[in-house]
Amino acid sequence: MSTPWSELPRATLAELPTPLHRLPRFSAAIGADVWIKRDDVGELGLAGNKVRKLEFVLADARRRGADVVVIVGAAQSNAARAAAAACVRLGLRCVLVLSGDQPHETAGNLLLDRLFRADVVRFAGTTDWAELEQAAEQVREDLRARGASPYALPAGASSPLGAVGFAAAWHELLGQLDARGATASTIVHASSSGGTHAGLVLGRALTNGGPRVRAIGVAADIHPDPAAQIVALASDAAGLLHADVEVTAGDVSLDMAFLGAGYAAPTPEAASAIRLLAETEAIVCDPVYSGKALAAVVAGARDGALPGTTVFWHTGGYHAVFAPPHGDALLDGD
Ligand SMILES: *Cc1c(COP(=O)(O)O)cnc(C)c1O
Repeated sequence: MSTPWSELPRATLAELPTPLHRLPRFSAAIGADVWIKRDDVGELGLAGNKVRKLEFVLADARRRGADVVVIVGAAQSNAARAAAAACVRLGLRCVLVLSGDQPHETAGNLLLDRLFRADVVRFAGTTDWAELEQAAEQVREDLRARGASPYALPAGASSPLGAVGFAAAWHELLGQLDARGATASTIVHASSSGGTHAGLVLGRALTNGGPRVRAIGVAADIHPDPAAQIVALASDAAGLLHADVEVTAGDVSLDMAFLGAGYAAPTPEAASAIRLLAETEAIVCDPVYSGKALAAVVAGARDGALPGTTVFWHTGGYHAVFAPPHGDALLDGD
């Protein structure tokens, strides 16, 4: 079937469609009908939502003749790890420009980055995203001076092409629901760099309706105005698709109430939601991203705000439970 993105180059990196299934025990426990979209499942480098974006983004890098990808991210960035994994598959070099301090242990995604042979350029103490972008530009300049052809990836691989990956994901989900004669009222997902939400709301605009999409903010400082950034991403993605749709601020739903003290700061609500999903369904979420979105699902059920069927979009990153200090925080209060 022809879709608005079938003309765009696309690398095969994700195993699509990712599974969609109901969560019977979790649903009974919270008193709502909850399904789960399993972007945590996939065979490339521990999977996650970034892989969908990278299918379009890295196909573009290849088409432009790039030989090295430069991406900025947090030290435990899932996007950086997924980019490193995807670059292995596509025969590209990958340079990661990561924020924050050098951790004592090479754990979690940093360990995987090393296994995937990414070059890591870490800037101790720099957590300012604008500074990080400047540092990445310097890295690209040095690469160009040495005859390489670098390709720039923004945080979270959230370029307009990355958002296209999630417009396609919307289409995939609606097809899966339709095939089962099911409809959803609400989709809930974690949001940081905005590409996931931008793609889903663009998908919704393209189909002229469907489930409402609720983004749960898990990072506050990547963009000065995250909602405006989401609208801009969705609009630019619509432009790439030559789609005659408009995405406005009214289409964006970004709830920062589950962020807690900030990006990667544990919250008791997320820890308890993670424990509940694990003990009812044996599915693992992480405290940085998906756990905070899952906490919003639990709160929404409690407040009667989730009528009908809710799809919890598991965006991956579950292996963060192994990276210190998350393990102990997860069991606190257990
Ligand atoms: C990056 C990420 C998100 C957020 O997606 P964005 O498109 O950056 O908003 C959610 N969950 C996980 C596990 C992620 O790695």
